[in-house]
Amino acid sequence: MTPFSASAPSPRARAAALDLGAFVTAAPSSFHAAREAARRLEAAGFTELHETTSWGSADAAGNRYVLRDGSIIAWSAPEGADAASPFRIVGSHTDSPALKLKPNPQLGAEGLAQVGVEIYGGPLLNSWLDRELRMAGRLALTDGSSVLVDTPGLLRIPQLAVHLDRAVNKDGVQLDPQRHMQPILGFAPSDVLEILAHHAGVARRDIVGLDVVTVDAQATALFGADEEFLASGRLDNLSSVHAEVEALITVARGARAETPDGPAPIAVMVANDHEEVGSATRSGAAGPFLEDVLVRVHAALGGDESSRRQVLASSMVLSADAGHAAHPNYPERHDPVTRPRLGEGPMLKINAQQRYATDAVGIAAFVAACERAGVPHQHFVSNNAMPCGSTIGPITATRLGMTTIDVGITLLSMHSAREMCATADPLMLQQACAAFLRG
Ligand code: ZN
Repeated sequence: MTPFSASAPSPRARAAALDLGAFVTAAPSSFHAAREAARRLEAAGFTELHETTSWGSADAAGNRYVLRDGSIIAWSAPEGADAASPFRIVGSHTDSPALKLKPNPQLGAEGLAQVGVEIYGGPLLNSWLDRELRMAGRLALTDGSSVLVDTPGLLRIPQLAVHLDRAVNKDGVQLDPQRHMQPILGFAPSDVLEILAHHAGVARRDIVGLDVVTVDAQATALFGADEEFLASGRLDNLSSVHAEVEALITVARGARAETPDGPAPIAVMVANDHEEVGSATRSGAAGPFLEDVLVRVHAALGGDESSRRQVLASSMVLSADAGHAAHPNYPERHDPVTRPRLGEGPMLKINAQQRYATDAVGIAAFVAACERAGVPHQHFVSNNAMPCGSTIGPITATRLGMTTIDVGITLLSMHSAREMCATADPLMLQQACAAFLRG
């Protein structure tokens, strides 16, 4: 078929976007995202280490990964890695805004069974209406173990009919997060815990704790005149998790050379949970997970306190998180000059208040990586009248003292149950991440 536009996505970009769609489908919750990353890494020859065992030099020098709840860290050491090898790290987050089941989730009215939820992060609440919703996450059991659970689209929050809400198209939909956001599950007395137990393959009486969210059940899809867009939930921030996993696998497979600055770096990816709720948890970016793993890898390679300081000072973090493209219907919400566009490559995110960690030195390092990868880049800066978001970059920089650069692909409808990005962008982010990890 002849494309309708000169910027139709290439077959390779299309394949990468569809693979991102497959990643998102396999990752309805942060726990599933960490497991799906691990599954892909295992298939590429990475092996799991556990935080509760001791790590030797062969562990640190290999292709390894470690899980902590809904977070994952993986690394690939080049041949000859030692206590002088710096780290090149790409970071992202596994969680997305959602409705999260309350601990006693059974509700009901008007002969219907409903599920009690609270709000996780900052979803566009209206986008959760009138969609079939999956339940997915982790169940803790009486014997101390836990299992993942993932259901088909069993739930729905029906919007009030326009006949009963005559002002809705003028005044906007008004949603009380307690009264109006409880999904319907079935006819009473359908039991939500019984259904979760069934899908997890466990007994209802054995469930003692839930970390379960509800997300859009609709399959991801390409759309647009030339299928130049991808519609999908959780592009914030599985677009970055997918890119860093695939970039690390690419780097681990290839040969790595010394850089002009010294030995080839140890390539690391980290995907933290809980970014959407502030990161201050044991598996979040403000917690100790990344530092714990870097310290242990360095020590297993024969390093000490003093060499660790040197290595951290010469290491660098690329913090990848989705950002906003300029919206064609709301041009005034963006900076008048710097207007990120869909399909034009990853953005460098810049903010004078340091809501993003990018500084001039970091910009140079990322621009060099993009040039090595043959990938374009663009800039993001907020309109001064709009509050700026933030991400794991400044938190990681504050904890570890490394030069940190905030980047990400452009989205529209961020924090909707179904966001959109350009089909061309996931591959470009992967390629830029791989070039950065190589050093
Ligand atoms: Zn994000």
